[in-house]
Amino acid sequence: MLSSIRKEDIAGECSTCGALITQKPHGYSMLKYKIPLCYDCQSFFETPRICAICKRPVTPDCVYITFLCKDCQQQVTDTFESEFKKEPYTTKQQVLIHLALKEQQIDNIMNYEVVYGEGYHKTIDICIPQASVYLEVNGLHHAYSPRQVWSDLWRTHFSAVSGFLVLNVYNVALMRNFLYIINGIERIVEARMASMCFSDTDN
Ligand SMILES: [Zn+2]
Ligand SMILES: [Zn+2]
Repeated sequence: MLSSIRKEDIAGECSTCGALITQKPHGYSMLKYKIPLCYDCQSFFETPRICAICKRPVTPDCVYITFLCKDCQQQVTDTFESEFKKEPYTTKQQVLIHLALKEQQIDNIMNYEVVYGEGYHKTIDICIPQASVYLEVNGLHHAYSPRQVWSDLWRTHFSAVSGFLVLNVYNVALMRNFLYIINGIERIVEARMASMCFSDTDN
């Protein structure tokens, strides 16, 4: 608890959740994980984990955005480098989600160009065309920057008008919630595809 920590006892910030930490957890986590972590995040790291893409068990040192085995880390890096040459706004987080969805047999396209109307173009981070879903993989400023929130609102509006659902995924949530997020996207895609089937049979 912050109130119980004296200012002079603070040794740094937890690199995962940002909590202020004292010398004891700081020293221990620097030694063991090479990054400062609070007790809560340490116990998170010590729970058995699986790779976010191939689902094989991984050790706590396999952290790259989230838990990823070394082979999948390499796959993310390679895909990122080739995509980055085509689209310099590509992020590794976006590539990771692209690959994890592909692994779950969900076809998706990175950096998908959309023209909403005259003068309004947008590159969508990830498009899942068969379910009419757009995924935006965003920094946290999308939650609080007035200019960004306003621009996102228009994108959501124009997307909805053309029948597309926009899902926002925040980079900061990926570390601890990756598998939940992928699972949630899968269920949304399934539900969207099922409802599209129903409307097709109406004809
Ligand atoms: Zn923490
Ligand atoms: Zn893997």
